[in-house]
Amino acid sequence: MRTAIVVGAGIGGVTAAVALEQCGWQVTMLERAAELGEVGAGISVWPGAAAVLEELGVEGVAKAARLGEAAGMRRWDGRWIVEAAELGIELPVMLHRAQLHQLIRDRLGSAVTIHTGTTVTGVTQDSDGVTVTATSVAPASAGSGGAGPAGAASGSVGAGGAEYRAELVVAADGIRSGIRGLLASEYKGPRYSGYTAYRGIAEVEVEDSGGETWGRGQRFGFAKLIDGRIYWYATANREPGGADDDVKELFANWHEPIPALLAATRAVLRNDIYDLPTPLLPFVHGRVLLLGDAAHAMTPNMGRGACSAIEDAGALARVLRAGKDLSAYDAERRPATTKLVKRSHQIGVIGQLDSKLACTVRDAVLAMGGKTAGLLAKRRKVEQSPV
Ligand SMILES: Cc1cc2nc3c(=O)[nH]c(=O)nc-3n(C[C@H](O)[C@H](O)[C@H](O)COP(=O)(O)OP(=O)(O)OC[C@H]3O[C@@H](n4cnc5c(N)ncnc54)[C@H](O)[C@@H]3O)c2cc1C
Repeated sequence: MRTAIVVGAGIGGVTAAVALEQCGWQVTMLERAAELGEVGAGISVWPGAAAVLEELGVEGVAKAARLGEAAGMRRWDGRWIVEAAELGIELPVMLHRAQLHQLIRDRLGSAVTIHTGTTVTGVTQDSDGVTVTATSVAPASAGSGGAGPAGAASGSVGAGGAEYRAELVVAADGIRSGIRGLLASEYKGPRYSGYTAYRGIAEVEVEDSGGETWGRGQRFGFAKLIDGRIYWYATANREPGGADDDVKELFANWHEPIPALLAATRAVLRNDIYDLPTPLLPFVHGRVLLLGDAAHAMTPNMGRGACSAIEDAGALARVLRAGKDLSAYDAERRPATTKLVKRSHQIGVIGQLDSKLACTVRDAVLAMGGKTAGLLAKRRKVEQSPV
């Protein structure tokens, strides 16, 4: 059986493990965290990623998700910039992150062995395979196969840690990928966007179906989850690593239901927002390939980062099934994700404008664009409707 090591068990890593297993590979997953899981926030899953999950046999996504609704865009005081309109464009479904991660993990079979509490520290490759070195804390074996370091990929434990060997390594170790750093130390790595994001889940009932509100240097968005709770996210221009803000105070005078949502939130997640500069590094380096945020971390403005990681895994499966060279994975995924990284970055720059004049012009241009898009959608509908 062919062997692979997946480094990192985020959404990208677990999807890659499912994909590899379904292509007949034996997989060892190495995860630094002591336990598998995801943070308490929502996530938008776009149709392309949902289709990959379906192809991989991940069940229950539609049941756990709420269909996104056409949502408008408002100013901080509640005046519409673009009213919610049916634009006839694809919409994502909304899920709780932990639930999505669990649904993907549920699809892992006995050919996948997971070692948690295991931090990868080195990767070397030769013509026969790749050797991964890692340090572990405690007994660190979980998941399907449940084998020790000598599980799926061949491995051994020495005083300095464990060594694993396989034919292929998938580096799904996130935006600060240590493996990417080992492969290309000259690549600059994450760049700060200039703003911080806050996320939470509000336990309150509201009539409002959601959407985004843009102010000066601050944004707020929310959407309903299937169980009625509300996932919200917000941004503010900040220096990286600054002190925690009181988000309630930041948005205190914004339109309802924003203050009500914040009042009904128990825990707030804070992330300084980074992405990877373009041109992105190649995604394939011999027997080591980059996947997910390790390859193409993007700002969250389009809600596509995790979806792109899922689509990477889908592309990898197609390449392996077709017996193509791994370079086909790079050829498909790098151009597609480069576009998203760039577009997401631009949206962030426009969304975080903070001068009064720039925001007035921005909002007017968006309003005009929204009207035009609405008219075009109506015309398309008329043209497509049966006579
Ligand atoms: C505010 C915000 C909102 C977002 N909203 C959305 C959204 O709605 N839709 C969407 O598609 N995307 C969204 N994203 C993006 C999405 O969260 C990421 O793109 C996605 O989680 C990346 O998954 P990943 O598996 O590639 O990396 P990660 O989730 O970062 O996983 C990397 C894993 O590797 C492990 N690891 C790291 N180093 C090592 C090592 N040396 N050894 C072993 N393990 C290691 C880490 O512990 C981690 O578990 C959002 C991001 C943010 C910040």
